[in-house]
Amino acid sequence: SKNAGRNCFHTYSVELKAEADQRNVLEIELREAIWREEIEVFYQPVTELGTGRVKSVEALARWHHGTRGFISPAEFIAVAEAGGLIVELGNQVLTKACRDAMTMPDDVKVAINLSALQFASTNLVDTVTFALAQSGLPQTRLELEITESVFLADTQENLKTLQRLKALGVSIALDDFGVGYSSLSYLTAFPFDKVKIDKSFIDRIDRRETVAVLKSIVQLAETLKLSIVAEGVETSEQVRQLHSLGIPLGQGYYFSKPVPLAGLSWQAPATRRR
Ligand code: C2E
Ligand code: CA
Ligand code: CA
Ligand code: CA
Repeated sequence: SKNAGRNCFHTYSVELKAEADQRNVLEIELREAIWREEIEVFYQPVTELGTGRVKSVEALARWHHGTRGFISPAEFIAVAEAGGLIVELGNQVLTKACRDAMTMPDDVKVAINLSALQFASTNLVDTVTFALAQSGLPQTRLELEITESVFLADTQENLKTLQRLKALGVSIALDDFGVGYSSLSYLTAFPFDKVKIDKSFIDRIDRRETVAVLKSIVQLAETLKLSIVAEGVETSEQVRQLHSLGIPLGQGYYFSKPVPLAGLSWQAPATRRR
């Protein structure tokens, strides 16, 4: 009936409003947490499959919320982006990561994630230059991870920014490779140093079609002189298959979950036999 429809709409809009209010509260709390520099940085190792050696670590933001415990970046990064907080948040992660990397073995790189909105911010190149200078971290030890969403915005401007970053001597990785619509065209259009193959492919590595795709990525990477990382590696069987496909690097819970700086170890437990 008409009435039922109206009630239904009413409930719906009340729910929407509650959701919006919750989001606003979260945004206010996040703003405070950033202001107090309470966003922590965890690190997840990227391991050489052949040797078990850690070659780099990825910095991942963690927000330890007062009452809700750890909130996933999947939730608060979106809030930070919507609330105009991502640039400040990103700068804090960059600064901490560079500083922390100075305490790691000097053949280990540190990678940070850059949001597409950070590219739109005018002074990203200066910010990166400053973080390197301030920490003393050699530029060759910093890696920046971007997703193809960076290219969806102002392509020309972002391409220029990427080129200037690369000119600094930092390396650039294409993250979440394979889940977007045009990953392949971006891979050839810009001189990336590394591709990170999305977890969804690793999850399906037992399928013949997936193996075929991975084989062609390995070939392409060879041609383009790119390094390859498999993301979301969880089992020894996946490690075995990735290694036999010629994929040199892996990251995932099999090796280690993201941990605080003090929890990192530089040789994978897997190769120590467990
Ligand atoms: P991402 O860059 O693709 O990072 C990998 C995510 O996969 C991390 O989630 C990591 O904890 C998770 N992961 C790693 N290995 C495994 C595995 O074996 N199994 C499973 N199920 N998951 C695994 P996390 O830390 O929750 O981060 C989610 C996303 O949030 C990141 O995805 C990245 O896009 C974003 N993010 C995190 N930190 C930052 C940051 O400082 N700045 C920006 N702009 N984005 C960030
Ligand atoms: Ca990443
Ligand atoms: Ca990823
Ligand atoms: Ca992702």
